[in-house]
Amino acid sequence: MTSQRIALVTGANRGIGKEVSRQLARDHGMKVLMGARDLSKGQAAADEIGYGAEALELDVSSPDSVAAAFFLMVEPSYGRLDVLVNNAGVDYDTDQQVHLADLDRVRRAFDTNLFGPWDTTIAAVPLLQRGTDARIVNVSSGAGSLNSMSAGTPGYGVSKAALNALTLKTAAALKPQGILVNAVCPGWVATDMGGGGRPISEGAKGVVWAATLPKGGPTGGFFRDGVAIDW
Ligand code: NDP
Repeated sequence: MTSQRIALVTGANRGIGKEVSRQLARDHGMKVLMGARDLSKGQAAADEIGYGAEALELDVSSPDSVAAAFFLMVEPSYGRLDVLVNNAGVDYDTDQQVHLADLDRVRRAFDTNLFGPWDTTIAAVPLLQRGTDARIVNVSSGAGSLNSMSAGTPGYGVSKAALNALTLKTAAALKPQGILVNAVCPGWVATDMGGGGRPISEGAKGVVWAATLPKGGPTGGFFRDGVAIDW
């Protein structure tokens, strides 16, 4: 069993998840398990990063996949977790309007953006309780902020608002155990999903900040670049 801190990042084969994995491994000396629904893509990303990063087959929208990842791989191999980053996300649906939305599509977005992190958290908490100063980061979005909810991205925005609510409830439940749980918006980042101008390394930094908070740090917050933002 390793004495390194152990982090699991979902959706880690590309984009922000891959960069968060790199920064946790390279800059913080963590053993990083890089979740990917396609193991070969996860393996390629882990090989690129190095620093002992390992790929883990994990489709967060599939309860069977979550159970297999935790009970057949993480638990028997490591016995604990110190950091969980719920990063996997889909369907920035700028082409939909809320009153015309395709609800089957919205349900699929919820499966990954809300129920995925929820299921993963349920599976991870027993391992995080065996970790040290454990942290959970839910990668959310300003699109989920109730104060800036626009007409666009209905499925995505509402799923991220729900993820924010899940963050608050999880933080309250785990606070007595010293597990810090926060939501982070990475900004508008130049990934396949975002298409913004922000470099991926910059967007990842705020996620890594929340994943490496010191004992007694904030919990139950919504942050961008380490600064609290409106729910
Ligand atoms: P990308 O589309 O670049 O990457 C998304 C990652 O999630 C991919 O690795 C993808 O895997 C994975 N993924 C999708 N569905 C699942 C699933 N069911 N199980 C496991 N992994 C899955 O997006 P970003 O890197 O930009 O986004 C990362 C997070 O940041 C998301 O939660 C997103 O909502 C959030 N965010 C991004 C912003 C931006 O501007 N980019 C702004 C605000 C928030 P695969 O390759 O198999 O598809």
